[in-house]
Amino acid sequence: MEVKTNGNLSFWYADMGGVPNYREPLPGDQHVDVCIVGAGFTGLWTAYYLKKVDPALRVVIVEKEFAGFGASGRNGGFLQGGISWSREKYLSGSSRAGVIEMDRIMHQSVEEIIRVAEAERIDADIARVDNLMVAATPAQWSRLKKKFRYSVDWQTPNKRFELLGPTETKARIRVKNALGAIASSGSARVQPAKLVRGLASVVERLGVAIYEQTDVKRIEPGRVTTSRGTVRAEAIVRATEGFTAGISGFERLWLPLNSALIITEPLSDSTWDEIGWSGHELLGDNSHAYCYAQRTREGRIAMGGRGVPYRFGSRIDQRGHTQDETIGKLHDILLRVLPQAQGAQIDHAWCGVLGVPRDWCATVGLDRKTGIGWAGGYVGRGVATSNLAGQTLCDLILRRDSPLVHLPWVNRAVKQWEPEPLRWLGVHSMYQMYQLADRIEARGGTGTSWLASAANRLTGRA
Ligand SMILES: Cc1cc2nc3c(=O)[nH]c(=O)nc-3n(C[C@H](O)[C@H](O)[C@H](O)COP(=O)(O)OP(=O)(O)OC[C@H]3O[C@@H](n4cnc5c(N)ncnc54)[C@H](O)[C@@H]3O)c2cc1C
Repeated sequence: MEVKTNGNLSFWYADMGGVPNYREPLPGDQHVDVCIVGAGFTGLWTAYYLKKVDPALRVVIVEKEFAGFGASGRNGGFLQGGISWSREKYLSGSSRAGVIEMDRIMHQSVEEIIRVAEAERIDADIARVDNLMVAATPAQWSRLKKKFRYSVDWQTPNKRFELLGPTETKARIRVKNALGAIASSGSARVQPAKLVRGLASVVERLGVAIYEQTDVKRIEPGRVTTSRGTVRAEAIVRATEGFTAGISGFERLWLPLNSALIITEPLSDSTWDEIGWSGHELLGDNSHAYCYAQRTREGRIAMGGRGVPYRFGSRIDQRGHTQDETIGKLHDILLRVLPQAQGAQIDHAWCGVLGVPRDWCATVGLDRKTGIGWAGGYVGRGVATSNLAGQTLCDLILRRDSPLVHLPWVNRAVKQWEPEPLRWLGVHSMYQMYQLADRIEARGGTGTSWLASAANRLTGRA
């Protein structure tokens, strides 16, 4: 499969005229109130709310590369709130009402991000759109109907949450073989690199120093050791999500799971007439290997999915460069879902990592004894959820007894991943089983393949 550009962070940076220049590194040792490690959405939102609440606070961010280098500048641009992980797992430290309340507050992050973007004049191609999760096999359709009942049972707060039949689904987007869909309101489409870069500028204007090209080697109580000097701070925030395994002492905390995207050239008006998609919905399918797509500002399709899911020893990609095999697989998925895009040039392919905890459930917290806080493990909902994490970390650091600090995901302990080679074997087996389950389900039959259920149990996802 021919692509014009592979890697170089992401198409979103090409769309902005290229990868940005670096800010200055940490000039030497410093003593501040709060030191944040990592300038993605988590770190930047935390800094934003801290400075809004207490403008006198001395806050610095130390970043290995540049603000937005990680998943925040490379993702699929789904601004979608709410719990996408097992609600039941949060019940161990909370009540059913507590989990429902957390879901409601997580949904609100979407509107909060739009509010800040408007107030701070961040132009990130944000458009409020529906989310459409489509089923294309009988097994996917029966799973989707179950998912619908499950979400209703858990009092999903979306204003509109509907099950669509095949005709209604195709009236929105002519996905091949669509049997039905869940359509939900309350989401938005974004150009993520514009959002993260815009947010970094806002945070800087509020008086936060962002030191780039500053590699954090060690995080200890009261001290962050970097390649450029030491920062002493009363509070420290680890905001490195998918890169966390690269910091000493955190090697097995969150697994760096790879996700990859391809993007087409802008499609012609006649192709768009064939596809429909005039509502610019966020599009996802209900296969086990899962794909997601957005229609961009300029009428391109950005389609993402899992490539090589995980590299041995928690290694990560080189600036988004993606294997040819992954690009080919994503192109096959694109044509399986939207064959109308046949013949469209693929302009860019890239990938990145997100941090996955052993139980696949996001957490945020602050250890009072050490003064070290963290947030992440958002597993595909990080664009919205990192905002709530930033608000929560702000309240935890400033000791504000807000409702946010009592939500079930706060200070939740999770166990570590297994040492290699078990980690690699577990994740690769899981995705192979998912792919096989999808192939079996594509032959017909309404039941979910036992292989998918076994894969979920194997890696702690269920
Ligand atoms: C391809 C892809 C598609 C995705 N699609 C979506 C989507 O559509 N919607 C959604 O909600 N979520 C999506 N996600 C997940 C989402 O993007 C992330 O969960 C979210 O951006 C995480 O933000 P973060 O700030 O915690 O981490 P990151 O954005 O990864 O930021 C971490 C930062 O820490 C820095 N860092 C790492 N190590 C060090 C160190 N030693 N010293 C200093 N700095 C360091 C990195 O350079 C980086 O800038 C996707 C992820 C990927 C990879």
